[in-house]
Amino acid sequence: MTERIIQTPDGPIRVSEPTIPPEMLRGKFLSDNESQETQGLLENWERARTQRNQTTIIACGDARLILPHRTTLNLRSIAAAGITKQSAITKSYLPIINNPYSKNILVMGHFDGRTLMSGERIKGCGGLGAKEAEKQTKEPRSGVSRYVWTHIQDKDVYLQTIKAALAISKGREEPVMPALQDHITGAIYPIGVFSNYAQVVDAAVDVDELFQDNFDPKEIYENGIPVIDDNVMPDELQELLIQQSIDVKLLKEKYPDFEKRQEVQNPKMIVATTENRSMKIRYPQTAREPGSIFKLHIARTPSGEVLMDTVKDIADQLNYPITHATKNYNKKGQPFSKTDTLLIETEDIYYSYAIALYLFNQRWMQMWAQLPNRSAMVAQTQGGKTSEMEILKAA
Ligand SMILES: [Zn+2]
Repeated sequence: MTERIIQTPDGPIRVSEPTIPPEMLRGKFLSDNESQETQGLLENWERARTQRNQTTIIACGDARLILPHRTTLNLRSIAAAGITKQSAITKSYLPIINNPYSKNILVMGHFDGRTLMSGERIKGCGGLGAKEAEKQTKEPRSGVSRYVWTHIQDKDVYLQTIKAALAISKGREEPVMPALQDHITGAIYPIGVFSNYAQVVDAAVDVDELFQDNFDPKEIYENGIPVIDDNVMPDELQELLIQQSIDVKLLKEKYPDFEKRQEVQNPKMIVATTENRSMKIRYPQTAREPGSIFKLHIARTPSGEVLMDTVKDIADQLNYPITHATKNYNKKGQPFSKTDTLLIETEDIYYSYAIALYLFNQRWMQMWAQLPNRSAMVAQTQGGKTSEMEILKAA
């Protein structure tokens, strides 16, 4: 047991904590990824791929979302944003979205159901909260404020999700469905179906009106959240949502305090990865507990390269959870106060190191890393299998 003084934004703190042996940490993750259970889950996923029966899910990285995960490609970014023409995120999404195995796309925003009141804007997504608080008059140079400025189009979750879904739908024929999740209850509200190059098959509100400058989003919420009829949803999406509602029910049985837990985002771990298979099928033991992982997708080229634009984009997004984790260190019950692990995965561990190096050059990253009991790891992952993992810091 060692004792030392560490500097936090709120002043010095005296800490004494044991060191986690790096080998033990690495062994835990690798044995989870190599287990029989993982093997079965990955085979099931491959089967859906062979049958060309997959859905791509574009959703916020918020740890509280309960998403379909068994056969899907899950792409996470703060506020499910970044779906603009020039965005590096979009460029990396396109090869995935346009793959022949994915039959349709689900775009998922989220909110705190306790903010749902007649005529009031629903809230709860941290990224959109940052958009609402935005004070800048020109593009910030870095950090989550730059991400929010560049990638989030609207502070309102209903509008942001519809705009993101329409932007994706423009380039393709297959159905794109925007939906909102109440992250307290886990319930999903489907709000539209777009298809055939941004044709509106159905929407719960007049989409043209959403794009008018004087449109008051509060009108949307006059009678709660407007939803589409179940019968306009593509069958596969309907099945996924039914499965998700069963998953939520089982989680509530296993964790009777589920809704209480969901009030504050407090993941154990932050994962940034090029892998689009869910953590729940690659590391089932680690990812089982609801709310335990905040996840971001790292863009890559079809050949597995990670470009510099992408590294900046991912660092800007990581700035959000990491800064909160440092600010709320030792403040029990506060957002990200339990966050002590960062995992960076790409198809080639060389890129994972490069991203980690870029991060460790940022002041906000150094501040988090010098807190006791923080672990930063890099890994190489291909086809859902982790082949290498190194611990950069475990103390
Ligand atoms: Zn969010």
